[in-house]
Amino acid sequence: MNRKEKTLRREIIDTCLRMNREGINQGTSGNVSARWNDGMLITPSGVPYEDLRARNIVFVDGNGTPASGQRPSSEWRFHLAILQARPEVGAVVHTHSVHATALSIRGMEIPAVHYMVAAAGGPTIRCAPYATFGTRELSDRALQALTDRRACLLANHGLIATGPDLSRALWLAGEVETLARQYILSLSLGEPKILPDDEVARVAQRLEILHRAPEATTRDETGFDPPAGGKDTARHV
Ligand SMILES: [Zn+2]
Repeated sequence: MNRKEKTLRREIIDTCLRMNREGINQGTSGNVSARWNDGMLITPSGVPYEDLRARNIVFVDGNGTPASGQRPSSEWRFHLAILQARPEVGAVVHTHSVHATALSIRGMEIPAVHYMVAAAGGPTIRCAPYATFGTRELSDRALQALTDRRACLLANHGLIATGPDLSRALWLAGEVETLARQYILSLSLGEPKILPDDEVARVAQRLEILHRAPEATTRDETGFDPPAGGKDTARHV
């Protein structure tokens, strides 16, 4: 294992621990992957995040074969399918965060109730129809829901967020959970006002510009706070 690989493995563990700190994970149900060589590095099945070491992170090759003797997360299939279908994606975060999952239980997508929906790539965050966890069917449905999007909900299950790197995928997962919470709260007050598609497109353009500018290395209007030395992160929206 070279230094670059070890660093990426540690970043995956750090992303899991941050998921817990940010309260967007339920137990060990979340899982995290990052593109590596012709496949990916992904969290293992059934190891508590606190006990994870770099060697526990599993390499799964482009054919879906894990390194010998290791068991990847049961959700490895959609992680790999997304990384293979979407060359701009470098990392995938999956969680069963409470509010996003609550909407998914009703099969609801998240409409443009707040302009930050644009961070997920369009005027809605779709909800993929239900399929059993770990199956190709779920993977296919997730990919479909992610068409022209960086995030989606999975019916009666949770959410998927993608990004060019781990930091941005985690950030988007947190944004989707926040949007879900805001949407649910607003529904309890009556009928939410939905922003028109052209406004979401305008915001998407502004976010793109913000994240490409050098000053995006500090916390900006989107609330994205790249890690120290995260200039590269900030360039890839
Ligand atoms: Zn899951």
